[in-house]
Amino acid sequence: MKKKKRKFSEIGHASTYSSRFFSEEVPKFVFPKNSMPANAAYQLVHDELDLDANPALNLASFVTTWMEPEAKQLIQENLHKNFIDHDEYPQTQVIHQRCVTMLMDLFNMPDPNKGIGSATIGSSEAIMLSLLAHKWNWKKKNPRTTSQPNIVFGSEVHVCWEKFARYFEVEMRVIPIHKNRYIVQANEILQNVDENTICVGAILGTTYTGQSDPISEINQALVNLKKTKGLNIPIHVDAASGGFILPFTDPKFAWDFRLEQVQSINVSGHKYGLVFPGLGWMLWKEAKTFPEELIFKVNYLGGWMPTYTLNFSCNSINVIAQYYNFLRLGKKGYKNIMQNCLKNAQYLASLMQKAGPFELINKGERLPIVAMKLKSSVKKFSVFDLSHKLREKGWVVSAYTLPKNAEKVAIMRVVVKENFSHDMAEIFFKDLQDSIAYLSTSLKKKRQKKRKEKHHPIC
Ligand SMILES: *Cc1c(COP(=O)(O)O)cnc(C)c1O
Repeated sequence: MKKKKRKFSEIGHASTYSSRFFSEEVPKFVFPKNSMPANAAYQLVHDELDLDANPALNLASFVTTWMEPEAKQLIQENLHKNFIDHDEYPQTQVIHQRCVTMLMDLFNMPDPNKGIGSATIGSSEAIMLSLLAHKWNWKKKNPRTTSQPNIVFGSEVHVCWEKFARYFEVEMRVIPIHKNRYIVQANEILQNVDENTICVGAILGTTYTGQSDPISEINQALVNLKKTKGLNIPIHVDAASGGFILPFTDPKFAWDFRLEQVQSINVSGHKYGLVFPGLGWMLWKEAKTFPEELIFKVNYLGGWMPTYTLNFSCNSINVIAQYYNFLRLGKKGYKNIMQNCLKNAQYLASLMQKAGPFELINKGERLPIVAMKLKSSVKKFSVFDLSHKLREKGWVVSAYTLPKNAEKVAIMRVVVKENFSHDMAEIFFKDLQDSIAYLSTSLKKKRQKKRKEKHHPIC
């Protein structure tokens, strides 16, 4: 007698790991022909993702890996809202505008009513959009020019600056960093600008070392240029990470809209804004100088709405979570968190210093970044070996070389985030010391040790 085929619906009642889906090949390369029960699909995907690193131990990335349960609840409640549907979700838009205005206030915009700003997917989108607006302004100022526009920045910029130049066809005037100095100087910027410069880029916290460009000196140099030569060149400040730190830890330090030539700023909500990815912000000092050609008005979601992002549909949750953080923490809360991050970074830096093999490049004084290279006397291992070895314990620490002229400098960098406590710093340091000890032992000695262990099994 032919065996009765089980109905598909019955399979769903089987206990998860007893179903056939766990002893058969999972579709990977062709679109699956059949369905599978939700619990099986869930468990398969869930278990596979266990192979990813633990985000809490990811010291390589600037991006937020922890949020409060209440924030997560709001995220859960709003997952199904498309941010771009202004007409359907008007209150989300109101909240978005509040965040923009609060950031304008935080960055000391002379008159937030005159500014303009928007949430983006991250700082990369915010940077490209701002630079595009600067390019349009240059074109409007020079309607008949046949010259190519250019943009001036240091080679320590994030890759998105170079992407902008290539995608939007602007000549890149990249100022190389030096063997021993990893930021640009105001006079180098000044030597490279001319009447076709759409804007100058300056960074508050570079991705490479966490150091900052001399923004107020660059501003002063460009103010002087305006006075003497009549050339008015705006600055875009890339404050991806620093923009949510310095306003709280050092509010008197002027890097923002207080500076005359600073026309636009980006900041990553998903870095020290303490929101899960992806959220960035673009802020522009004067709406009247933001080219209206870049603002599109569309009506296909009901009502006319302006849109000036590169992206269209995206989730509402990041903006909502950002607003939650602003309300929940306020300046005081952000300050306390950032000060803790700095303290823990400085503590880790002091341990690293004592460890012996490192030369510290950033000790977490202004941004909670600890960046170091190995002393030239260290010959047995590289920062890449060390990073690799630490991975065995679950720690993710980045190791990379610096841009041209300092390409021989290999850096190891730890980004201290709010969930990296004093205690975690000690645990991490212990694992680091063990890794150094292992890598410093010669292969021959390691083999001898192993053989010895074999002869004396631990009972
Ligand atoms: C992270 C970073 C970026 C890119 O930001 P995303 O938010 O990841 O798009 C740009 N500039 C600097 C200085 C950064 O650190």
